Amino acid sequence: MPQASKLIDKTKSASMAARSISKVGIVGAGQMGSGIAHVVALSGYTVELNDLKRESFDKGLDAISQNMARQVAKGLYSDADKDTALSRISYAETYADFRDCDLVIEAATENEDLKHKIFAGLAAHLKPTALLASNTSSISITRLAAATDRPEDFIGMHFMNPVPKMDLVELIRGIATEDETFATARTFIESLGKTIAVSEDFPAFIVNRILLPMINEAVYTLYEGVGTVDAIDKAMKLGANHPMGPLELADFIGLDTCLSVMQVLYEGLSDTKYRPCPLLVKYVDAGWLGRKTRRGFYDYRGDKPVPTR
Ligand code: NAD
Repeated sequence: MPQASKLIDKTKSASMAARSISKVGIVGAGQMGSGIAHVVALSGYTVELNDLKRESFDKGLDAISQNMARQVAKGLYSDADKDTALSRISYAETYADFRDCDLVIEAATENEDLKHKIFAGLAAHLKPTALLASNTSSISITRLAAATDRPEDFIGMHFMNPVPKMDLVELIRGIATEDETFATARTFIESLGKTIAVSEDFPAFIVNRILLPMINEAVYTLYEGVGTVDAIDKAMKLGANHPMGPLELADFIGLDTCLSVMQVLYEGLSDTKYRPCPLLVKYVDAGWLGRKTRRGFYDYRGDKPVPTR
């Protein structure tokens, strides 16, 4: 994690790009939208954060405040820096609150129809020079961009979870993305202290193209009775030196997001090797989506996580 001096007031370097960014709109205040708001506000930008309900925004802001408090306790920056960053984040009740934004990042639920509706709704409210980005884990940037009024000004900006901790952001151009848009996005991401990996626009990009089939295979391993939740996670932590087991990681990502990415891979690449495991489908059908619903491959309702299988 960069020092506070590197995190605060980075708007200057963003202004050296083709377009200057100072105000950022974010759609979706879930784990990713709030994580993005966290790092963006801490880097000196003003943030308008939208969700379907005020309670979702309040929950997101609460999570940001707690995560910032942890960073303050680690000595990464001061309490005053935290308060200043939090004061930069406002609730955008409607898209009209994005009227002054230079960039709007969509980080709502991983569902293509829903994302199309969001971008269609945004068009009337944005200034002509505003850039649009999607934090989608898997959906075609070209297709999302084509449904907007500004495909040239549209880019994939794939942050990793948890955003305040993870250094990488994948940048994905749609077929129409202009160089100016790419340069502006690159400068903006670097101003957050993050590192970029450029991915071509194919289903699930780089990280999830590799990571999600591994997670899906772990669910098959569980489904076929090769191992228990505990055995599978222990095996991959101690045997492959992964910091988290694949099922623990699936719960962390959200099982709905995992399933959605597998469906995009399966349909987008027309290859049966990507078929989502029926057990993953069952957990999602049950509403057991992982940590965010307090139950998934582990039950998080007690003091410590307990495997559900
Ligand atoms: P989440 O379920 O935590 O949050 C999604 C939020 O979007 C919810 O608060 C929901 O109320 C809100 N929302 C839904 N429809 C909306 C609408 N029409 N307008 C405004 N808000 C709306 O999900 P998440 O994990 O934050 O994922 C969000 C996006 O980020 C997805 O596209 C996902 O694929 C992507 N992503 C997720 C991860 C991860 O590890 N979870 C990592 C990288 C990218």
